[in-house]
Amino acid sequence: MRGLYVHLPFCRAKCGYCDFASAPGAPAEIDAFLEALAGEASAYGALKGKFDTLYIGGGTPSLLSARQLVKLFSVLSDVAGPLSRLAESTFEANPESLDVEKAALLKKAGMSRISLGLQASQDALLKRLGRIAMSGDFLKAFSLLREAGFDNISADLMCGLPGQTLKDFTGSIEWLLKLKPEHVSFYALEVHDGTPFSADGLKEEPEAAAAMYETGAAALALAGFRRYEISNFARPGHESRHNLNYWDQGEYLGLGPSAASYLGGERRANTAGAAAYVRAALAGEEIPAQYRETLSGRKKSAEKIMLGLRKTAGIELPDDIFIEFEQELSRLAEAGLLERSGRHIKIREDRFYVSNAVFREFV
Ligand code: SF4
Repeated sequence: MRGLYVHLPFCRAKCGYCDFASAPGAPAEIDAFLEALAGEASAYGALKGKFDTLYIGGGTPSLLSARQLVKLFSVLSDVAGPLSRLAESTFEANPESLDVEKAALLKKAGMSRISLGLQASQDALLKRLGRIAMSGDFLKAFSLLREAGFDNISADLMCGLPGQTLKDFTGSIEWLLKLKPEHVSFYALEVHDGTPFSADGLKEEPEAAAAMYETGAAALALAGFRRYEISNFARPGHESRHNLNYWDQGEYLGLGPSAASYLGGERRANTAGAAAYVRAALAGEEIPAQYRETLSGRKKSAEKIMLGLRKTAGIELPDDIFIEFEQELSRLAEAGLLERSGRHIKIREDRFYVSNAVFREFV
């Protein structure tokens, strides 16, 4: 499996908690960015047609106009081949920037999966987060995606928010389930330096978030969803293949500012600076890297374990890795965090909320 990720670094306004590489962009800036993206993509001609999945993320990809979306899909077809032939192609959207024309265009371009931002169903919480779309906007966007023929829609919800109660979180899940999405992701609030939330002195609430996670996971299980990764739940057959490839330590190419790649054993991420990215890409120069390293030996094996353990199915370890990490694995099994069966290991489902304690053993 090989995935293609594209990062669109534009949003209408910045949410209070966000530290992703994204900023408001004028139409001319987005046009220049798309030219730069074409420039970066042209360096990967040898991989043309050798991708299985595509994920267009951001930022807010749905912020692009219909004309800009046509250009984006043309650039991506030049790298990935016909997009409708991919095993899965996900497009991230926010409700405020979707309309009937764009939904039809996404379908026509071959997108098979939409990830639609929700976060919470209570408008007071959405306002506190600095979100533009309220719950009514999500309802409208969800139904126009269904009308456009999308039968694979994911929504994300946040927990551990300031002022959010357990009842708010389960209420958001019940509200969302009425729409019958195929996939749901949970994210616990992280407060990053430099964000308005950090400036306001807001703190993370890991215990409240963990309680919401576990209660929410049980509610989704009752509704027929299966947790297949720490934060991801799907109806059978709707697991994200693109993201599963990350957790299987498969290869991927990331295009755009801050996008990460893992190709030929090398892991790297592009600079997060949109201006530096556009300048280098338009000049035909190599995109500056935030980091680059070749993974090998114990580090590569440890990463394989950590990624594999994110999946509820766990991971079957090759003999050499199993022997190399036997001590750590035994310690975790004795502590009741890990289940082992031969060389197959997985985190106990009732211990997912302390998965960071498991991962620390391998860092
Ligand atoms: S929509 Fe997403 S990427 Fe954009 S500012 Fe909000 S959290 Fe960040």
